[in-house]
Amino acid sequence: MKTDKLAKAFRIDDGDKFRLKDVDPADTCGMDIDKDDAKAMIADGVKKLGKLQEKLYAQDRWAVLAIFQAMDAAGKDGAIEHVMSGINPQGCQVFSFKAPSAHELDHDYLWRTTACLPERGRIGIFNRSYYEEVLVVRAHPEILARQKLPPELVTKDIWDERYKDIRAFERYLARNGTVVLKFMLHVSKDEQRRRFIERIEDPAKNWKFSMGDVGERKLWDTYMEAYEDMVRNTSRERAPWYVVPADNKWFTRLVVVNAMVDALEKLDLQFPKLDEAARADLEKAKSILMPDAAMTRKGKT
Ligand code: ATP
Ligand code: MG
Repeated sequence: MKTDKLAKAFRIDDGDKFRLKDVDPADTCGMDIDKDDAKAMIADGVKKLGKLQEKLYAQDRWAVLAIFQAMDAAGKDGAIEHVMSGINPQGCQVFSFKAPSAHELDHDYLWRTTACLPERGRIGIFNRSYYEEVLVVRAHPEILARQKLPPELVTKDIWDERYKDIRAFERYLARNGTVVLKFMLHVSKDEQRRRFIERIEDPAKNWKFSMGDVGERKLWDTYMEAYEDMVRNTSRERAPWYVVPADNKWFTRLVVVNAMVDALEKLDLQFPKLDEAARADLEKAKSILMPDAAMTRKGKT
């Protein structure tokens, strides 16, 4: 499959027909390539993204928000690291969202992420996001109980209400010039086990492992239901989910980079064009600088 078609294969524009079981975490679209080829393809996408981002930044009109959600060890951090590797750090912002603080719990759940939305001209990355509110919070009723919500507002409809509010929020962002892309990295339970064991056995990876991760793994089926429901209810053309196979890290990164490139290419980004007056100013500046340069060459500074 050509790389420019890759991302599209995993994009969900309309969630109604989506079923998580239709996505195979080990899928590589039949691409049987070695590590070096994969690296070269990823590097190619990263380079394209870097060039597009320069224009995004210069044009200062659109913002891009890329959200990453996944089970532990699915490769969020690595995917983010690769995607951003070719981007000018000035044009990019990465935020990670952990369990909310007491201060954050005193606000509505969109408050803390809203404060971190990307400015125009920037790519903003959310490593976890407000989607935790329909994932970990759904898997753990005790977390919902700690959210200090008025009891009469916590009904069986709460998840549908949250989907509805999130859809409305993302529509609002789209209408204001923020392009929203969402990536669910879909790892298999078996591959997660392999990666956990690697984290335990390799001293350089020990820091990535936490006992809590094993507890979340026990809730695997509950999480998968929550992920499926989330994708079904919050995939829209203006804010699609990409459900990306994540058992092969190279493939995940390739799909993510290409999805970002696709999204930016659709924006028809351009460097700002100068009007006559601005061009005349530039010429004037040049005419001031040129004699100076001649003087410098003659050592007459
Ligand atoms: P890694 O994948 O490398 O382990 P991480 O993103 O899991 O990194 P951690 O510090 O291990 O980082 O975990 C963050 C934890 O915060 C996750 O378990 C996540 O579910 C939790 N979290 C994030 N947002 C919320 C939220 N709104 N409510 C409750 N828990 C949340
Ligand atoms: Mg973790």
